[in-house]
Amino acid sequence: MKYIIQLPTGSWSTMDYSSQDILHRLQMVVELVPVDKVILGWYPDPHMYQSIGAFLNSRGIDMVLWMPVFSEVGDFVPVDPAKDLWGNAIDSCLAQQGETFNFCCPSSDTNIRAVLDIYRNHYSQCGFKGVFLDRIRTHSFGGGVAGVLSCGCDNCRRKFLDRGLSLDLVAEEYDRLGDDFFSISDYSPAQGYSFANKLASDFFKIKGHIVSDSISELCRCFKDMGLTVGLDLFAPLVSDFVGQDYHLLASHADFIKPMLYRRTFAPAGVGYEYDLLHQHAPSATGYPQMQMDRNFLLAQVESLKGLPCAKFPGVEINYNQQLVPTDPEYIRSSIQTIIQGGADGVTLSWNIMEAPREHILALQ
Ligand SMILES: [Zn+2]
Repeated sequence: MKYIIQLPTGSWSTMDYSSQDILHRLQMVVELVPVDKVILGWYPDPHMYQSIGAFLNSRGIDMVLWMPVFSEVGDFVPVDPAKDLWGNAIDSCLAQQGETFNFCCPSSDTNIRAVLDIYRNHYSQCGFKGVFLDRIRTHSFGGGVAGVLSCGCDNCRRKFLDRGLSLDLVAEEYDRLGDDFFSISDYSPAQGYSFANKLASDFFKIKGHIVSDSISELCRCFKDMGLTVGLDLFAPLVSDFVGQDYHLLASHADFIKPMLYRRTFAPAGVGYEYDLLHQHAPSATGYPQMQMDRNFLLAQVESLKGLPCAKFPGVEINYNQQLVPTDPEYIRSSIQTIIQGGADGVTLSWNIMEAPREHILALQ
């Protein structure tokens, strides 16, 4: 049983925590539990990572860079934006805490190169042993139906066509069916959704391939640099909507971190994202009622069995009264359930800097 620790260092322009504060917190946690990796990111100041890297190195713990891929990057360097099915820009509506959730195109070579260039230019001399790729997806229902029915830029239209699907036909079908476009005939945690409509089914399947093709390229390039690669993934319940096919993605990574956040009422929270589906497509049928309880968590973790990489599901251990109302018992029981489900370990997310002391003591 091992832990990965995840903490943000700031946005592209603002530092959230000093290296001293981060070191202080890490020293406390590594005394309590066995830590395998620390994911840090992505405030672009190499100095910030020197003392932290030296400390982690002396403990045999890998320092891993948390890198956003298909959102946030556009606030730092020019990117090709994502478009919806009708070729329009997608309104994010989600900006919070310095993150904009403005998504860019998941198939653009410019965007893939931008991520590699950012790493080479800003982080390659910092002593990172790996990268942790976040936002490897399209927008979710957080960007409304337009967010999920993306990317419809010219490049992606060609990629869909190469795999036999015309996005014009998908758009016509959505215009004809409305919410019913999203209706499903079956759901299982391991296999995902069976969409009742053939065009919807093809759309989501091919979107998964388009995202995975880009991520496989990124993983290959980072591995060529001698880095390990981890992937941040939506929980299986909501991953189909954003183009995350676990079976395809897991084959490129060293480890995955499904975000099994049952108490996060913000982007990537499982219940939060599932509710957005019902909000934006209220007449879609076939979706099971989901209680965000331990049985749900266990089934999500068990669905990962057989994937060809290490699994470190994420549990949120920070606290915020409105957005992340966690407590020590929630954290303890989540960790127990994840281990019971056969995972290799747990990622303490999404910000250990904002975890109350009693949440950290609950790890013992
Ligand atoms: Zn595109």
